[in-house]
Amino acid sequence: MFRLMNEHTTKHHSWAEPYKIKMVELLRMTTREERLAAIREAGYNTFLTRSRDVYIDLLTDSGTSAMSDRQWAGMMMGDEAYSGSENFYHLESVVQEYYGYKYLVPTHQGRGAEHLMSQILIQEGDHVPGNMYFTTTRLHQELAGGKFVDVIVDEAHDPASEFPFKGNVDLAKLDALVQDVGADRVPYISLEGNVNMAGGQPFSMANLRELRAYCDKHDIPIMLDATRTIENAWFIREREEGYASKSVREILREICDMTDGCTMSAKKDLLVNIGGFFCCNDDEVFRKAQNLVVVYEGLHTYGGLAGRDMEAMAQGILEATTEEHMAARVGQVRYLGRKLEAAGIPIVKPIGSHAIFIDARQFLPHIDQDDYPAQALAAELFIEAGIRTMERGNVSAGRSPVTGENRHPKLELVRLTIPRRVYTQAHMDVVVEAVTDVYARRDEIRGLKMVYEPEYLRFFQARFEPL
Ligand SMILES: *Cc1c(COP(=O)(O)O)cnc(C)c1O
Repeated sequence: MFRLMNEHTTKHHSWAEPYKIKMVELLRMTTREERLAAIREAGYNTFLTRSRDVYIDLLTDSGTSAMSDRQWAGMMMGDEAYSGSENFYHLESVVQEYYGYKYLVPTHQGRGAEHLMSQILIQEGDHVPGNMYFTTTRLHQELAGGKFVDVIVDEAHDPASEFPFKGNVDLAKLDALVQDVGADRVPYISLEGNVNMAGGQPFSMANLRELRAYCDKHDIPIMLDATRTIENAWFIREREEGYASKSVREILREICDMTDGCTMSAKKDLLVNIGGFFCCNDDEVFRKAQNLVVVYEGLHTYGGLAGRDMEAMAQGILEATTEEHMAARVGQVRYLGRKLEAAGIPIVKPIGSHAIFIDARQFLPHIDQDDYPAQALAAELFIEAGIRTMERGNVSAGRSPVTGENRHPKLELVRLTIPRRVYTQAHMDVVVEAVTDVYARRDEIRGLKMVYEPEYLRFFQARFEPL
């Protein structure tokens, strides 16, 4: 159905999309005055703006992908039975083949799977090491009584470092934790593919192999956040010795085969608008997950999803694991990143797979981190051109549960996230022009004061006023 791209195409042709457009969605153009009113109304938080006021939506690549004709056809094949839907068994067989785990429990999205896994595996007082935190992942670990411990390599915290595998686990940091608290207080290591908060940065297969050996020695399972692992597999193919002639599919299986289970937000790699799952190989963990899912999500053969959603996800896995899809995906993100770099905009390097991250500290050096420079820049891009982006800095990092202070992360970033198969190269050009115009008047931009702060995941609903 999908041909693999041959070497000739990879080496000499550009990354042009392996599809053509059948249907379009019309956008509303707005004036600067309208956008100013809209961002004020939204408390200077792009999450609270309305989609109708947005021209180019780079808020997130979560659930915003364009589905293919085959996925839409699959939607019509939805078997909407309460139990034992045909689409569940199809999804299960595709996940078993492509990801290789024994057991599948569908969930409504990624955090549903994180909830199940955290409640099952974590005991009060446990420590959960991870290669950088993700917002929902860490919160579910904390709600289950665990404490997240960052064990990613130092390079990940330096936006200027060109290190090719910034997603790697620092084994010395992991070992220091294990020595300190004891392996029996470490229920698993949470390993994220293509680390989102570090800028979409992969781990290497060599690092995973070392991690596996270490974890075998100490009897610690590795639970993969598989949300963006196809993109991680692509970077291994591009950057790691010995993988250039392996397919994305083979590399993905090699990764999964070295881990003990996963959580998945299918709204990213898997090209669907909603969905997720939990996978594992352990009989006992599976039984618990099957039992818990009926409390929070739905029966274990649908987990909060419609049959049609599971069908679209199964087809999405087939499409997302092709070389031609990944070449166009990463190609478009790089196109945007290189143009921004050429315009002198400080961005996180190397350019990741799903987004460009602007270094807001360097962009707005005159704004103190507690006046939320990245939040202010995201608001400014919206006012400038109706481009909706997201803060990934001091607001997203939240407060330490111990001290109650802002966590002051090293990375203070604005994320320009590219939805899959949605925007054109011309849209990317407009983004570059808008960012460049804002950069030219950066000295005029002021920080923000937080005037409403929700208890959980504050970045979604916090409200601000200009200083
Ligand atoms: C989006 C995401 C999640 C959470 O998934 P949701 O579907 O938004 O609940 C977890 N981990 C990573 C790496 C993500 O990108």
